[in-house]
Amino acid sequence: MKVTFPHMGHLWVSVAAMLQYLGVEVVVPPPTTKRTLTLGSRYAPEFACLPLKLNLGNFIEARELGADTILMAGGCGPCRFGYYAQVEHAILEDLGYRYRLVVMEPPQRHAGELLAKIKYITGHRSWLEVARAIWFGFQKARLLDELERRAHYLRPREVRRGSTDRAFGEALKIVAAVRHPRDMAKAAEQAHRIMSEVAFDAYRPVLRVGIVGEIFTLLEPFANYDLERKLGHMGVEVDRSIYLSEWINDHLLFGLAGGRRTRKAACRAAAPYLNHFVGGHGQETVGSAALYAAQGYDGVIQLMPFTCMPEIVAASILPKLKAELGIPVLTIVVDEHSGEAGLITRLESFVDLLHGRKGVEG
Ligand code: SF4
Repeated sequence: MKVTFPHMGHLWVSVAAMLQYLGVEVVVPPPTTKRTLTLGSRYAPEFACLPLKLNLGNFIEARELGADTILMAGGCGPCRFGYYAQVEHAILEDLGYRYRLVVMEPPQRHAGELLAKIKYITGHRSWLEVARAIWFGFQKARLLDELERRAHYLRPREVRRGSTDRAFGEALKIVAAVRHPRDMAKAAEQAHRIMSEVAFDAYRPVLRVGIVGEIFTLLEPFANYDLERKLGHMGVEVDRSIYLSEWINDHLLFGLAGGRRTRKAACRAAAPYLNHFVGGHGQETVGSAALYAAQGYDGVIQLMPFTCMPEIVAASILPKLKAELGIPVLTIVVDEHSGEAGLITRLESFVDLLHGRKGVEG
Protein backbone atom coordinates (compact mmCIF):
# COMPACT_ATOMS: atom_id res chain seq x y z
CA MET A 1 0.00 0.00 0.00
CA LYS A 2 1.42 3.40 -1.01
CA VAL A 3 -0.56 6.11 0.70
CA THR A 4 -1.03 9.69 -0.45
CA PHE A 5 -3.06 12.63 0.91
CA PRO A 6 -3.69 16.31 0.13
CA HIS A 7 -0.56 18.46 0.23
CA MET A 8 -2.35 21.40 1.93
CA GLY A 9 0.26 23.76 3.36
CA HIS A 10 2.46 21.88 5.84
CA LEU A 11 -0.09 19.15 6.48
CA TRP A 12 2.05 16.76 4.46
CA VAL A 13 4.88 17.05 7.02
CA SER A 14 2.66 15.84 9.87
CA VAL A 15 0.77 13.15 7.98
CA ALA A 16 3.95 11.74 6.44
CA ALA A 17 5.57 11.68 9.91
CA MET A 18 2.63 9.79 11.47
CA LEU A 19 2.42 7.20 8.69
CA GLN A 20 6.16 6.64 8.28
CA TYR A 21 6.52 6.19 12.05
CA LEU A 22 3.99 3.35 11.73
CA GLY A 23 5.88 1.78 8.82
CA VAL A 24 3.34 2.79 6.16
CA GLU A 25 4.78 3.59 2.73
CA VAL A 26 3.98 7.17 1.80
CA VAL A 27 3.91 9.09 -1.48
CA VAL A 28 3.95 12.80 -0.67
CA PRO A 29 2.23 14.64 -3.54
CA PRO A 30 4.54 17.18 -5.20
CA PRO A 31 4.05 20.74 -3.93
CA THR A 32 0.90 22.29 -5.36
CA THR A 33 1.68 24.24 -8.54
CA LYS A 34 -0.02 25.64 -11.63
CA ARG A 35 0.13 22.13 -13.13
CA THR A 36 -1.75 20.71 -10.11
CA LEU A 37 -4.44 23.35 -10.56
CA THR A 38 -4.67 22.82 -14.32
CA LEU A 39 -5.12 19.07 -13.85
CA GLY A 40 -7.69 19.50 -11.09
CA SER A 41 -9.72 22.16 -12.90
CA ARG A 42 -9.72 20.18 -16.13
CA TYR A 43 -11.49 17.22 -14.55
CA ALA A 44 -13.50 18.68 -11.63
CA PRO A 45 -17.02 20.12 -12.07
CA GLU A 46 -16.70 23.83 -12.81
CA PHE A 47 -18.61 24.91 -9.69
CA ALA A 48 -16.70 22.69 -7.31
CA CYS A 49 -14.70 24.72 -4.82
CA LEU A 50 -10.99 25.29 -5.32
CA PRO A 51 -9.78 22.85 -2.61
CA LEU A 52 -11.52 19.97 -4.42
CA LYS A 53 -9.74 20.89 -7.65
CA LEU A 54 -6.35 21.16 -5.97
CA ASN A 55 -6.82 17.87 -4.10
CA LEU A 56 -7.73 16.19 -7.35
CA GLY A 57 -4.58 17.59 -8.97
CA ASN A 58 -2.51 16.39 -5.97
CA PHE A 59 -3.91 12.87 -6.35
CA ILE A 60 -3.27 12.73 -10.10
CA GLU A 61 0.33 13.83 -9.54
CA ALA A 62 0.79 11.39 -6.66
CA ARG A 63 -0.55 8.55 -8.85
CA GLU A 64 2.18 9.36 -11.36
CA LEU A 65 4.64 8.71 -8.52
CA GLY A 66 3.12 5.35 -7.69
CA ALA A 67 0.53 6.09 -4.97
CA ASP A 68 -2.37 3.61 -4.84
CA THR A 69 -4.31 4.66 -1.71
CA ILE A 70 -5.83 8.03 -0.85
CA LEU A 71 -6.19 9.08 2.76
CA MET A 72 -8.74 11.85 3.16
CA ALA A 73 -10.58 13.50 6.01
CA GLY A 74 -14.34 13.17 5.93
CA GLY A 75 -16.88 15.58 7.28
CA CYS A 76 -20.48 16.15 8.15
CA GLY A 77 -22.68 19.19 8.15
CA PRO A 78 -24.10 21.60 5.65
CA CYS A 79 -21.14 22.11 3.29
CA ARG A 80 -19.95 19.89 0.44
CA PHE A 81 -16.92 18.56 2.27
CA GLY A 82 -18.90 15.54 3.50
CA TYR A 83 -18.93 13.95 0.03
CA TYR A 84 -15.76 15.51 -1.29
CA ALA A 85 -13.60 12.39 -1.03
CA GLN A 86 -16.19 10.24 -2.80
CA VAL A 87 -16.58 12.77 -5.65
CA GLU A 88 -12.81 12.98 -6.10
CA HIS A 89 -12.55 9.20 -6.07
CA ALA A 90 -15.32 8.82 -8.66
CA ILE A 91 -13.63 11.36 -10.97
CA LEU A 92 -10.30 9.55 -10.63
CA GLU A 93 -11.97 6.19 -11.39
CA ASP A 94 -13.58 7.67 -14.52
CA LEU A 95 -10.14 8.85 -15.61
CA GLY A 96 -8.72 5.36 -15.14
CA TYR A 97 -6.68 6.07 -12.00
CA ARG A 98 -7.25 3.05 -9.76
CA TYR A 99 -7.08 4.20 -6.15
CA ARG A 100 -8.21 2.70 -2.86
CA LEU A 101 -10.02 5.40 -0.86
CA VAL A 102 -9.81 5.60 2.93
CA VAL A 103 -11.91 8.38 4.47
CA MET A 104 -11.24 9.33 8.09
CA GLU A 105 -14.56 10.53 9.45
CA PRO A 106 -14.63 12.98 12.39
CA PRO A 107 -14.01 11.08 15.67
CA GLN A 108 -16.79 12.94 17.50
CA ARG A 109 -19.49 11.33 15.33
CA HIS A 110 -17.96 8.19 13.84
CA ALA A 111 -15.43 6.94 16.42
CA GLY A 112 -15.86 3.22 15.61
CA GLU A 113 -15.55 3.78 11.89
CA LEU A 114 -12.49 5.96 12.36
CA LEU A 115 -10.73 3.32 14.48
CA ALA A 116 -11.48 0.64 11.87
CA LYS A 117 -9.95 2.83 9.13
CA ILE A 118 -6.85 3.50 11.23
CA LYS A 119 -6.45 -0.26 11.74
CA TYR A 120 -6.86 -0.83 8.00
CA ILE A 121 -4.02 1.60 7.21
CA THR A 122 -1.67 0.69 10.05
CA GLY A 123 -2.22 -3.09 10.08
CA HIS A 124 -0.70 -4.87 13.08
CA ARG A 125 0.49 -1.75 14.94
CA SER A 126 -0.73 -1.41 18.52
CA TRP A 127 -3.02 1.43 19.62
CA LEU A 128 -0.18 2.73 21.77
CA GLU A 129 2.02 3.05 18.69
CA VAL A 130 -0.83 4.72 16.80
CA ALA A 131 -1.28 7.22 19.66
CA ARG A 132 2.47 7.93 19.63
CA ALA A 133 2.37 8.47 15.87
CA ILE A 134 -0.50 10.96 16.17
CA TRP A 135 1.35 12.79 18.93
CA PHE A 136 4.52 12.83 16.76
CA GLY A 137 2.59 14.38 13.84
CA PHE A 138 1.00 16.87 16.21
CA GLN A 139 4.39 17.88 17.64
CA LYS A 140 5.65 18.60 14.13
CA ALA A 141 2.56 20.64 13.30
CA ARG A 142 2.88 22.62 16.52
CA LEU A 143 6.57 23.32 15.95
CA LEU A 144 5.97 24.46 12.37
CA ASP A 145 3.16 26.72 13.56
CA GLU A 146 5.45 28.31 16.16
CA LEU A 147 8.04 28.90 13.44
CA GLU A 148 5.43 30.36 11.10
CA ARG A 149 4.19 32.71 13.80
CA ARG A 150 7.75 33.85 14.29
CA ALA A 151 8.05 34.38 10.53
CA HIS A 152 4.86 36.46 10.57
CA TYR A 153 6.42 38.68 13.25
CA LEU A 154 9.81 38.95 11.53
CA ARG A 155 8.83 39.48 7.90
CA PRO A 156 7.59 43.11 8.19
CA ARG A 157 10.53 43.96 10.47
CA GLU A 158 13.41 42.13 8.77
CA VAL A 159 16.51 44.16 7.99
CA ARG A 160 17.44 42.19 4.84
CA ARG A 161 14.49 41.54 2.58
CA GLY A 162 13.88 37.82 2.11
CA SER A 163 15.96 36.72 5.13
CA THR A 164 12.87 35.46 7.01
CA ASP A 165 11.73 33.36 4.06
CA ARG A 166 15.18 31.83 3.68
CA ALA A 167 15.40 31.04 7.40
CA PHE A 168 11.90 29.54 7.48
CA GLY A 169 12.66 27.39 4.42
CA GLU A 170 15.74 25.98 6.17
CA ALA A 171 13.87 25.39 9.43
CA LEU A 172 11.06 23.63 7.56
CA LYS A 173 13.54 21.22 5.96
CA ILE A 174 14.97 20.34 9.38
CA VAL A 175 11.53 19.62 10.87
CA ALA A 176 10.36 17.64 7.83
CA ALA A 177 13.46 15.43 7.96
CA VAL A 178 12.88 14.20 11.56
CA ARG A 179 11.98 10.50 11.49
CA HIS A 180 11.58 9.73 15.21
CA PRO A 181 9.95 11.60 18.11
CA ARG A 182 13.17 11.35 20.16
CA ASP A 183 14.86 13.71 17.63
CA MET A 184 12.19 16.41 17.86
CA ALA A 185 13.78 18.40 20.70
CA LYS A 186 17.08 18.76 18.82
CA ALA A 187 15.29 19.73 15.59
CA ALA A 188 13.20 22.30 17.48
CA GLU A 189 16.31 23.84 18.97
CA GLN A 190 18.05 24.04 15.57
CA ALA A 191 14.97 25.45 13.83
CA HIS A 192 14.40 28.13 16.49
CA ARG A 193 18.09 29.04 16.37
CA ILE A 194 17.90 29.58 12.60
CA MET A 195 14.88 31.84 13.01
CA SER A 196 16.58 33.74 15.83
CA GLU A 197 19.47 34.65 13.52
CA VAL A 198 17.21 36.81 11.30
CA ALA A 199 18.13 40.45 11.93
CA PHE A 200 15.07 42.64 12.55
CA ASP A 201 14.07 46.12 13.66
CA ALA A 202 11.80 45.73 16.69
CA TYR A 203 10.85 49.42 16.63
CA ARG A 204 9.66 49.58 13.02
CA PRO A 205 5.96 50.52 12.99
CA VAL A 206 3.88 47.79 11.36
CA LEU A 207 0.19 47.11 10.76
CA ARG A 208 -1.49 44.06 12.26
CA VAL A 209 -4.03 42.12 10.20
CA GLY A 210 -5.95 38.96 11.12
CA ILE A 211 -6.58 36.44 8.35
CA VAL A 212 -9.82 34.47 8.65
CA GLY A 213 -11.73 32.12 6.36
CA GLU A 214 -11.85 28.66 4.87
CA ILE A 215 -9.14 26.40 6.26
CA PHE A 216 -7.65 25.03 3.02
CA THR A 217 -7.31 28.50 1.52
CA LEU A 218 -5.76 29.76 4.75
CA LEU A 219 -3.19 26.98 5.00
CA GLU A 220 -2.17 26.44 1.37
CA PRO A 221 0.01 29.32 0.09
CA PHE A 222 -0.61 28.34 -3.54
CA ALA A 223 -4.37 28.72 -3.03
CA ASN A 224 -4.03 32.18 -1.46
CA TYR A 225 -1.24 33.49 -3.72
CA ASP A 226 1.14 33.51 -0.79
CA LEU A 227 -0.90 36.27 0.78
CA GLU A 228 0.80 36.15 4.18
CA ARG A 229 4.23 36.61 2.64
CA LYS A 230 3.01 39.42 0.35
CA LEU A 231 1.47 41.25 3.31
CA GLY A 232 4.64 40.74 5.35
CA HIS A 233 6.66 42.42 2.63
CA MET A 234 4.15 45.30 2.63
CA GLY A 235 4.91 45.91 6.32
CA VAL A 236 2.00 43.93 7.78
CA GLU A 237 2.29 41.46 10.63
CA VAL A 238 -0.38 38.82 10.10
CA ASP A 239 -2.05 36.33 12.37
CA ARG A 240 -4.07 33.44 11.00
CA SER A 241 -7.30 32.40 12.69
CA ILE A 242 -6.55 28.69 12.26
CA TYR A 243 -3.20 26.95 12.43
CA LEU A 244 -2.89 23.27 11.63
CA SER A 245 -1.92 22.24 15.17
CA GLU A 246 -5.00 24.05 16.54
CA TRP A 247 -7.19 22.13 14.10
CA ILE A 248 -5.57 18.81 15.12
CA ASN A 249 -5.97 19.68 18.80
CA ASP A 250 -9.64 20.63 18.39
CA HIS A 251 -10.66 17.76 16.11
CA LEU A 252 -8.38 14.81 16.88
CA LEU A 253 -7.10 15.45 20.41
CA PHE A 254 -10.37 16.83 21.84
CA GLY A 255 -8.56 20.00 23.00
CA LEU A 256 -6.36 18.00 25.39
CA ALA A 257 -3.10 19.54 24.15
CA GLY A 258 -4.10 22.99 25.40
CA GLY A 259 -2.96 26.01 23.42
CA ARG A 260 -3.73 29.67 23.05
CA ARG A 261 -6.96 29.37 21.03
CA THR A 262 -9.80 26.96 20.61
CA ARG A 263 -12.72 26.59 18.25
CA LYS A 264 -15.05 27.09 21.23
CA ALA A 265 -13.64 30.58 21.94
CA ALA A 266 -14.19 31.66 18.32
CA CYS A 267 -17.75 30.29 18.34
CA ARG A 268 -18.50 32.14 21.59
CA ALA A 269 -17.27 35.39 20.06
CA ALA A 270 -19.40 34.75 16.96
CA ALA A 271 -22.60 34.21 18.98
CA PRO A 272 -23.98 37.81 18.79
CA TYR A 273 -23.76 37.63 14.97
CA LEU A 274 -24.05 33.93 14.13
CA ASN A 275 -24.97 31.44 16.80
CA HIS A 276 -25.07 28.13 14.96
CA PHE A 277 -22.88 25.90 12.83
CA VAL A 278 -23.04 26.69 9.11
CA GLY A 279 -20.48 24.14 7.93
CA GLY A 280 -16.73 24.44 7.35
CA HIS A 281 -15.28 27.27 9.41
CA GLY A 282 -17.96 29.91 8.72
CA GLN A 283 -18.77 30.40 12.39
CA GLU A 284 -15.08 30.63 13.34
CA THR A 285 -14.56 33.21 10.59
CA VAL A 286 -17.13 35.52 12.16
CA GLY A 287 -15.92 34.83 15.73
CA SER A 288 -12.26 35.29 14.87
CA ALA A 289 -12.97 38.61 13.13
CA ALA A 290 -14.73 39.78 16.32
CA LEU A 291 -11.76 38.61 18.42
CA TYR A 292 -9.28 40.44 16.17
CA ALA A 293 -11.35 43.62 16.53
CA ALA A 294 -11.34 43.21 20.32
CA GLN A 295 -7.56 42.70 20.30
CA GLY A 296 -6.99 45.99 18.47
CA TYR A 297 -5.95 44.60 15.09
CA ASP A 298 -5.90 47.15 12.26
CA GLY A 299 -7.93 45.03 9.85
CA VAL A 300 -9.24 41.61 8.89
CA ILE A 301 -8.95 39.73 5.61
CA GLN A 302 -11.41 36.93 4.85
CA LEU A 303 -10.17 34.31 2.39
CA MET A 304 -12.64 32.04 0.66
CA PRO A 305 -12.88 29.82 -2.40
CA PHE A 306 -15.47 30.84 -4.99
CA THR A 307 -18.81 29.12 -4.17
CA CYS A 308 -17.72 28.18 -0.61
CA MET A 309 -21.05 27.97 1.19
CA PRO A 310 -20.01 28.52 4.85
CA GLU A 311 -17.83 31.49 3.91
CA ILE A 312 -20.62 33.05 1.82
CA VAL A 313 -22.74 32.99 4.99
CA ALA A 314 -19.87 34.53 6.98
CA ALA A 315 -19.23 37.16 4.27
CA SER A 316 -22.86 38.28 4.49
CA ILE A 317 -22.48 38.84 8.25
CA LEU A 318 -19.07 40.52 8.30
CA PRO A 319 -20.39 43.96 7.13
CA LYS A 320 -22.53 44.15 10.30
CA LEU A 321 -19.57 43.23 12.47
CA LYS A 322 -17.42 45.74 10.60
CA ALA A 323 -19.97 48.51 11.21
CA GLU A 324 -20.44 47.67 14.89
CA LEU A 325 -16.83 47.01 15.82
CA GLY A 326 -15.25 49.53 13.46
CA ILE A 327 -12.70 47.20 11.91
CA PRO A 328 -12.03 47.24 8.15
CA VAL A 329 -12.68 43.87 6.47
CA LEU A 330 -11.54 42.80 3.01
CA THR A 331 -13.01 39.63 1.47
CA ILE A 332 -10.88 37.86 -1.13
CA VAL A 333 -12.46 35.13 -3.25
CA VAL A 334 -10.14 32.72 -5.06
CA ASP A 335 -10.63 30.23 -7.87
CA GLU A 336 -8.67 29.02 -10.88
CA HIS A 337 -9.43 32.27 -12.73
CA SER A 338 -8.03 34.57 -10.04
CA GLY A 339 -5.09 36.73 -11.04
CA GLU A 340 -2.10 37.62 -8.92
CA ALA A 341 -1.76 41.20 -10.20
CA GLY A 342 -5.37 42.01 -9.25
CA LEU A 343 -4.83 40.57 -5.78
CA ILE A 344 -1.69 42.65 -5.22
CA THR A 345 -3.58 45.82 -6.21
CA ARG A 346 -6.36 45.02 -3.74
CA LEU A 347 -3.90 44.28 -0.95
CA GLU A 348 -1.98 47.49 -1.58
CA SER A 349 -5.21 49.53 -1.49
CA PHE A 350 -6.29 47.83 1.74
CA VAL A 351 -2.91 48.44 3.35
CA ASP A 352 -3.05 52.11 2.24
CA LEU A 353 -6.49 52.42 3.81
CA LEU A 354 -5.24 50.90 7.08
CA HIS A 355 -2.25 53.26 7.12
CA GLY A 356 -4.60 56.19 6.54
CA ARG A 357 -6.85 55.15 9.42
CA LYS A 358 -3.92 54.59 11.73
CA GLY A 359 -2.56 58.02 10.82
CA VAL A 360 -5.93 59.64 11.53
CA GLU A 361 -6.47 57.75 14.75
CA GLY A 362 -2.88 58.18 15.90
S1 SF4 B 1 -15.81 24.70 3.42
FE1 SF4 B 1 -16.10 25.72 1.45
S2 SF4 B 1 -14.27 25.20 0.26
FE2 SF4 B 1 -14.39 23.75 1.97
S3 SF4 B 1 -15.54 22.04 1.12
FE3 SF4 B 1 -17.03 23.35 2.13
S4 SF4 B 1 -17.79 24.64 0.46
FE4 SF4 B 1 -15.87 23.74 -0.26
